[in-house]
Amino acid sequence: MTENKRDGKLVVISGFSGVGKGTVVNRLLSDYDHYTLSVSMTTRKPREGEVHGVNYYFVSNEEFEEMIRNGGLLEHAGYADHYYGTPRSFVEENMAKGKDVILEIEVQGAMQIKKVFPDAVLIFITTPSAGEMAKRLIGRKTETEEQIDNRFKRAVEEIEHLEKYDYIVVNDDLDDCVREINGIVETEEGGVSLDPKFKTRFLSELLEIIDERMQAARARLAAERSHRK
Ligand code: 5GP
Repeated sequence: MTENKRDGKLVVISGFSGVGKGTVVNRLLSDYDHYTLSVSMTTRKPREGEVHGVNYYFVSNEEFEEMIRNGGLLEHAGYADHYYGTPRSFVEENMAKGKDVILEIEVQGAMQIKKVFPDAVLIFITTPSAGEMAKRLIGRKTETEEQIDNRFKRAVEEIEHLEKYDYIVVNDDLDDCVREINGIVETEEGGVSLDPKFKTRFLSELLEIIDERMQAARARLAAERSHRK
């Protein structure tokens, strides 16, 4: 008799910057052996410590565009002036082997995946509040002030797409978050349904933070100018 192994699932994980997506994904990979992570292709330059083939496949614009033409990518999107995309063959081979393949991708790519794979499980990870997101993003000290501002602005756009995800998971406690996501993948139940009040509260708090940062930047600029006079 042939073994009746199920095909693996496609698990899309998105979330605001600073929410701890990378840590959650690493824990899913180390705590459970049914997951594997798709390594994306990108045209952005490697950051310090990033390794080709591990964090990303770092390629030129020409190579990326050729992959698109050859149908080698399952999805792709532009983000901060660079291309990002998911190589098709790794995902298809591993799903056929029964592995649940994790894609850690942004919103536009997640929407393309849902169209092609309606059974994909789309999970959006959020912090409990925008204030907590700001604390984590600023606290990790890996981005410049300008990059932080851009990531807040990006979060404002991402909030608009929250309803399109199947599950929203709050990363308050890492262990709980990892267990909850694995539970969702295994049973397709759990997470919180999107509370419109959560969305409004998060968005207004986020806009306030952006506003305060703009005011502080203006004050710094004015101080520099008067100093120079
Ligand atoms: P970073 O440059 O910080 O590594 O990633 C920037 C954004 O690109 C993140 O939101 C990340 O989830 C997203 N991303 C990474 N790989 C892919 C991909 O293959 N496709 C899409 N659509 N987004 C990706």
